[in-house]
Amino acid sequence: MSASEKTLLTVDVAIIGGGMAGACLALLLAKHCPQLEVALLEQRPLPQADAALDLPSFDTRATAISAGSLKVFRDLGLWSMLKEYAAPIRQVHVSDRGHSLGAGLSAERESEAAFEDMLGAVIENAALGPLLYRALATTDTCVLAPARVTGVKMHQGGAELSWRGTEHDAGSTAEQTLNTRLLVVADGVNSPLCQQLGIATDEEAYHQHALVTTVELQRDHRGVAYERFTDNGPMALLPLPRRDGSHRAALVWTCASDEAEAIAGLPEAAFIDRLQKVFGWRAGRILRSGSVQHYPLKLSLAREQVRRGLVLVGNCAHFLHPVAGQGFNLTLRDCETLARTIARHGGSSAQTAPGELDLLQTYWRERQHDQQLTIGFSDRIPPLFAARNLFAAGLRQAGLLGLALAPPLRGAFARQAAGLAV
Ligand SMILES: Cc1cc2nc3c(=O)[nH]c(=O)nc-3n(C[C@H](O)[C@H](O)[C@H](O)COP(=O)(O)OP(=O)(O)OC[C@H]3O[C@@H](n4cnc5c(N)ncnc54)[C@H](O)[C@@H]3O)c2cc1C
Repeated sequence: MSASEKTLLTVDVAIIGGGMAGACLALLLAKHCPQLEVALLEQRPLPQADAALDLPSFDTRATAISAGSLKVFRDLGLWSMLKEYAAPIRQVHVSDRGHSLGAGLSAERESEAAFEDMLGAVIENAALGPLLYRALATTDTCVLAPARVTGVKMHQGGAELSWRGTEHDAGSTAEQTLNTRLLVVADGVNSPLCQQLGIATDEEAYHQHALVTTVELQRDHRGVAYERFTDNGPMALLPLPRRDGSHRAALVWTCASDEAEAIAGLPEAAFIDRLQKVFGWRAGRILRSGSVQHYPLKLSLAREQVRRGLVLVGNCAHFLHPVAGQGFNLTLRDCETLARTIARHGGSSAQTAPGELDLLQTYWRERQHDQQLTIGFSDRIPPLFAARNLFAAGLRQAGLLGLALAPPLRGAFARQAAGLAV
């Protein structure tokens, strides 16, 4: 729907930001709380039908989706569509500075954590976006795009938003207002809206960038995700579905920030040459690479995630190191718990206001443990790869990616780390 077609006065839930976090939360609310009126406001325009989405979440990256997240997509009725575009991960192969550490993880051995004999699946964000929006179009969610939220005022009964019908202020339509009982901020990392609301973030720069591209391999990856630890940090090569008969993989390569631009700007042959030297030959010869994007890496955590009438989800709540493949999976678990908590407290019959502080604190208490564990893994565990103890040895075997794909294992490692394992 174009933003100018409809002006809403009041909704139960308004989600600001239609990236992976906002779109998934809207789908989960439609499933668990069907009687709530939900509006999703996205500042960028949505294209017609199957065209690619020009939203940051749905760029050239690919996402490793854990078995747990795949179950959430199955319960949303999306798995049958999604699997056409996804490559299964059957094995995670981990190597440390050139030395293979054995088999890592395999779906066969970790059958309890697996989903349909896979540890997880990889899907290109550009394919995921249109799927999510097609699914949203079958719900009653009111998707407003382009709709740029320019201001937020919290009040006793929720929040009042001001928004305009274009991405940029110049030439935009007149400012409109929307009242909501629960405001969900899902506008990504470095959120101006969080700043406006006085929500501070704790930040830690990694002084690293992630180089991201798609490569073509000479041979079939056979569903193996490779994770390799180098002196500059971890890198991951994730299986992608074949396209026009070619074997493809998604690369996330961590490098020092001051090298990122130079590496990303190398001619294709020189880039492949350098990559092959750093990554090695475990996945065979790399034949081609696509355009290389780079992302600065930092840990960014909002100091508050809930207030009365307000909740933060996705990158604006926690932005993690991407190589561990944890960020979106963690967000999806947050969104599922939020939707279920609202439903449990009468959200589907709209008896209890979805923005009540008790409800949101219940949600936050339920999510705290998983968030702390996951954030700790993606931030503090990499240095342990230099250590020589039992915990580090276990981590090396599974790799960060393996731990992201099979979350039950994280509990075991965390117990080990805390000295609680028997
Ligand atoms: C290189 C890389 C690789 C990754 N790989 C993985 C992986 O393999 N597995 C995994 O689990 N996670 C991964 N992640 C993490 C994952 O990408 C994020 O969790 C995901 O993008 C969450 O996005 P988001 O919706 O919170 O934010 P965004 O994608 O930034 O979306 C925010 C949206 O809000 C909109 N917006 C902003 N301001 C306004 C406003 N004022 N009004 C209206 N709309 C607004 C923006 O246009 C945008 O569409 C990776 C991240 C990176 C950087």
